[in-house]
Amino acid sequence: MIKEKRISRANKKMESIKINNIAVIGSGTMGRGIAYTAALAGFDVILQDISIEAIDKAKQYIIKEASTSVEKGFITGEQKESALQRLSYTTDLIEAVQTADLVVEAIIEVMEAKINIFQQLDTYAPRHAILATNTSTMSPTEIAASTSRPGQCVAMHFFNPVHKMKLVEIIRGLDTSDATVQLVRQTAEEMGKETVEVNEFPGFVTSRMNCLIGNEAMNMLMEGVASAEDIDKAMKLGLNHPMGPLQLADLVGLDSRLRNMEYLYKHLGEKYRPSPLLVKYVKAGRLGRKSGRGFYTYTD
Ligand code: NAD
Repeated sequence: MIKEKRISRANKKMESIKINNIAVIGSGTMGRGIAYTAALAGFDVILQDISIEAIDKAKQYIIKEASTSVEKGFITGEQKESALQRLSYTTDLIEAVQTADLVVEAIIEVMEAKINIFQQLDTYAPRHAILATNTSTMSPTEIAASTSRPGQCVAMHFFNPVHKMKLVEIIRGLDTSDATVQLVRQTAEEMGKETVEVNEFPGFVTSRMNCLIGNEAMNMLMEGVASAEDIDKAMKLGLNHPMGPLQLADLVGLDSRLRNMEYLYKHLGEKYRPSPLLVKYVKAGRLGRKSGRGFYTYTD
């Protein structure tokens, strides 16, 4: 009874919070996209990474994407300029989160790393702040348990490229409060996204399905069933997928995909054993678009 009262008081307090400042932790493929999309939607955003090179690359990416969007008429020059002005960059975690209302973590898909960063977020972010993880597969409950505010922790799963993809999958941890879910849903909608709410289970809806399809495509390629081009063409023209599974894996990053597969294999079993071809490509440094070569070769 006392606990219920406390939860209801906490929910009430959260309901009065307005998200203005967003900190994004990790400026790789996803972090830079989340930061750009949030700034375009009018939030003040700070993007943090431990690597200054990653920050520089993210900055260049965001400026290029914004310029392309203006050229194509998706946004005005004014929208581009104000989004760029609302964005700042840092390698200092404390500076990044000290005034945040919402923190979105988008670092490497390794549980120990996520737990470590969440402990720091819990220490340095304001008491009212929501801590969200962009994990593709992992348990928000386990991540939240390392903090003193599990009710304010949640998974907010964006898709790549963030400014073009419509969905955000929202995954509740065991103790995530209704008010937290409501606030992140509203924030995602303000970013122009649709949301789905998913109960916690490894891989949620999208990664669980997508990893399986991609892995099967890799096994088919390894078995010589068809070329990469023909596997992708078959899925696009025969099954109406907008992108082939091998093209998509290259876009995601083969290192990221391998980590997802390893987590799902550990938690869901044999069905998710990573394709030996995927393992071999990652060992060779063929990481997809980000390294210039994966199942395809990229020159830009
Ligand atoms: P990435 O490898 O492109 O980028 C990760 C970034 O995090 C790097 O720049 C790295 O320097 C930085 N980083 C690592 N440790 C850090 C720390 N302690 N503090 C601050 N920065 C740190 O990875 P990504 O593909 O952007 O994936 C990030 C997360 O998003 C993962 O959890 C992944 O599963 C998830 N995700 C990825 C995709 C995708 O298509 N790539 C889609 C949805 C979700």
